[in-house]
Amino acid sequence: MALREPAQASRIGVMGGTFDPIHLAHLIAAESVRDGFHLHRVLFIPAGTPPHKTGRRVSPAARRLAMVRLAISSNPGFEVSTIETDRPGASYTVDTVRSLRREFGPETKLYFITGADAVLEILSWKDPFEIFNHCELVAVTRPGYDAVALDRMVATMAGSGGVVHRLAIPEVSISSSEIRKRVKERRSIRYLVPDAVGEYIWRTGLYQD
Ligand code: NAP
Repeated sequence: MALREPAQASRIGVMGGTFDPIHLAHLIAAESVRDGFHLHRVLFIPAGTPPHKTGRRVSPAARRLAMVRLAISSNPGFEVSTIETDRPGASYTVDTVRSLRREFGPETKLYFITGADAVLEILSWKDPFEIFNHCELVAVTRPGYDAVALDRMVATMAGSGGVVHRLAIPEVSISSSEIRKRVKERRSIRYLVPDAVGEYIWRTGLYQD
């Protein structure tokens, strides 16, 4: 018989990202996982200094954080965490999930939400196997993702005790880089980002140089 989780155990999603800027596909991913995995809440965690983006300019953390706050304000199931923007140095996921585990204790189930492409890179992240000690991963589908490579990754991780779930979500091919490009060309980003985020981008001049 399957063991039931303690009634009080909470289930928390962790949506990490550079969010430069946050867009509707991020929100669809987080809401799909919140709903599909019966999560109590999803924490959006903007990276302070993304370790994998050293070659390119990333907008200041305060700006990216402000856009995340605007984007999630209408969803009571979403919260923002400044754990990575407050921490000096590179924002390694392993350090974040270790801190969350300490904060929430052993009974809480943590689900780290990533795009299917990002999860394929996880073995190149810092201490990937420790990440799996603290949380399960949910890989959400995105247009053009490599389903065969993802299956292989799920099997590889299962062999070493890591759990990677796949979740099919409504797929939209929005990307932060496409939004930055559109803004630079003074083209519309309406319906790609929440209205408040669009207004923030145009008002503050982000991505326009
Ligand atoms: P991002 O570009 O802001 O995107 C956030 C997440 O949303 C990513 O998992 C991304 O997956 C997904 N996503 C974006 N557009 C999507 C779409 N249209 N449909 C479905 N999913 C979509 O963030 P990121 O720079 O990839 O970083 C993701 C997380 O991984 C962050 O928490 C970062 O710190 C962490 N990370 C950690 C390390 C490390 O610890 N060494 C290294 C790399 C990344 P895709 O990538 O598949 O687009």
